[in-house]
Amino acid sequence: MMDGSFLIGARAVTTDETFTGFDPATNEALDPPFSVATVDHVAEACRLADEAFDTYRETTPEARAAFLEAIAANIEAIGDELIVRAMQESGLPRPRLEGERGRTAGQLRLFARVLRQGRWAGVTIDSALPERQPLPRADLRQRRIGVGPVAVFGASNFPLAFSVAGGDTASALAAGCPVVVKGHPAHPGTSALVGQAIRDAVAASGLPEGVFSLVQGPANELGAALVADPRIKAVGFTGSRGGGLALVNIANNRPEPIPVYAEMSSVNPVLLFPAALAARAEALGKAYVGSLTLGSGQFCTNPGIVLALAGPDLDRFAATAADALAEAQPQVMLTSGIHANYDRGVTEIAGHGAVETLARGAEGTGCNRGRAALFATTAANFIANPELAHEVFGAASIIVRADNLDEVAQVLTAMEGQLTATLHLDDADAELARPLIPLLERKAGRILANGWPTGVEVSYAMVHGGPFPATSDPRSTSVGTAAIERFLRPVCYQDIPDVLLPAPVQQANPLGLPRIIDGDPE
Ligand code: NAP
Repeated sequence: MMDGSFLIGARAVTTDETFTGFDPATNEALDPPFSVATVDHVAEACRLADEAFDTYRETTPEARAAFLEAIAANIEAIGDELIVRAMQESGLPRPRLEGERGRTAGQLRLFARVLRQGRWAGVTIDSALPERQPLPRADLRQRRIGVGPVAVFGASNFPLAFSVAGGDTASALAAGCPVVVKGHPAHPGTSALVGQAIRDAVAASGLPEGVFSLVQGPANELGAALVADPRIKAVGFTGSRGGGLALVNIANNRPEPIPVYAEMSSVNPVLLFPAALAARAEALGKAYVGSLTLGSGQFCTNPGIVLALAGPDLDRFAATAADALAEAQPQVMLTSGIHANYDRGVTEIAGHGAVETLARGAEGTGCNRGRAALFATTAANFIANPELAHEVFGAASIIVRADNLDEVAQVLTAMEGQLTATLHLDDADAELARPLIPLLERKAGRILANGWPTGVEVSYAMVHGGPFPATSDPRSTSVGTAAIERFLRPVCYQDIPDVLLPAPVQQANPLGLPRIIDGDPE
C-alpha cells in the first residue's frame, strides 16, 4: 500500500512537507505525494537501530536466514503492483524489472544460504598451550560480529536489486547489522512498497523494530545527517562520484570516522586483440553495441572504452558498430537529471577537438530519451586528454586506436580504477595478452574474456568493486556473497570462561558452525 509514509522502525510516519516521484517518460508527477523525513526522523531511526543491534546480532544464523527468506517472499507477494510502480518511476521495461525482482529475492535467499553455511562467522580457535616454553599460550577464540547499524543509499539504476532490499541491505542484514535506508528520490513508491515488505518481515520474525527503517526525501541533508549520526557504523552507496565522495568526506570528518563502501564510476575498458578482431570484427561490433545500449547504457559496467590496435580489422569493427548504433532507438533514461547529465557529457565529447563522432543513435520524440553515441580517438589523444576517460553515464562509448601494444599498456596505465576490464581474444592472442594481465589486476575488480561486462552474476566468486573511483574502498565487493565481509569485524576472546562465551565460540559448538582449530579446518 502506498500512503505516502516513510518508516521509522515499525511506525509509518507522515509529515506536512511532501515530494513526488516522476514518470521520466512524461515528466509528470506521480501520485501519491510522499512525506519528507526530517533530520530528527533520521536520528530516531538511528536510535532504534542502535537499540536493536545487540539483540539482532545475536540471533542465530537460522533465525536471520529465515528472516531474509521472509523478506524475499513478502517482496514477491506484492505482485504486479511493484513492477508497475517501478516501471512508472524508472522508465525501465517490464522484463528488466521482473528479472530484477527475481535477482532481489534470489540474493536474499543466497545470503540465507551463506548464513546457514556459517563460514561468515569466521570461528577460529587457537587452543591453550599451558606447557609451552618459554611462555604458555592463552586460549584464543575469534569470531566475527556485525559492525553496527548500517546506512544504505538506494541506487537509481537498480530500483529493486540495488535499492531498499538490494545487495547492500541483504549483506548488512545477513551480517547482523540493522539497516537505515535513505530511499532514492527517483523511486519513492517502489521504495515504500519494498520497505513495507521488510518491515512486515521484521514483525513476523519477532525482531526488534529498529532492525529496519526507511527515510525518504529529495534533499542532500537527510543522507548527510544519516552518515554523520554517531550510531551508524558503515555506509553502502551506489551513485555518482560526487555523491559518493561527499558521503566519504562526511564519514571521514566524524569524531569517529567510519567506512563508506561507495560504488561510483567506471568506464570498463574492453580490449580487442588482433586474432579475435581479424576472425570476427563484425560480430564483435554488433555485440558491443548490444551491451552498450542495454538499458540505455545505465549500468555501472557499461563498456565506455574500447581499445585496440589501429588497422583494417578495427575499421571493420568500428564501421559495424557505427551502423548498429545508428539504428539504436532512444530509450527513456531514469531521471531528467541523469538524462541532462548524459546529454551534457555527450555534447562535451562531441565538441572535443581530439575526438571524432562515428555515429549517433536514432533521434526520437518524448522526454528524457537517451540518444546513443559512438566516438573514436587515438591512444595519444586519449592519454593527453584525461577528461575523455571520465564516465558518461548512459549509452556513450569511445573507440581508442593504438599504434602498438606499448601504447595499449600506456592507455591502461593512465586510466583510473575500474569495476571491470574485458579481453576479446583467440588462442593466438594469448601471449600478447599475458603481459597486460598484471596491469589489469592493478586496475580492475573483475577481468573477463570473450564476453561483455554488463551482467553481473550474484554468486560466491563475484567481485563488483575495484580501485578508486570505481569504489571508495577496493578491498571488497558490493555484489555477491563476499559483500557480507564489509559489515563484519573480528572479536577475539582470550581465556574467557566457556560459560561467558557467546555460542559461536563455545567449546561444544552449539550452532554447529564450521571452525578452524589450531590452524586447520575441524
Ligand atoms: P546521486 O546523485 O549520486 O544520488 C544517489 C543518492 O545519494 C541519492 O539518494 C542522493 O539523494 C544521495 N546524495 C547524492 N549526493 C549527496 C550528498 N552530497 N549528500 C548526501 N546525499 C547525497 O546519483 P543518481 O541520482 O543515481 O544519478 C546521478 C548521476 O550518478 C548519474 O548521472 C550518473 O553519472 C551517476 N550514477 C552512476 C552509477 C554507477 O553505477 N556508476 C549509478 C547511478 C548513477 P539526494 O539527492 O536526495 O540527497
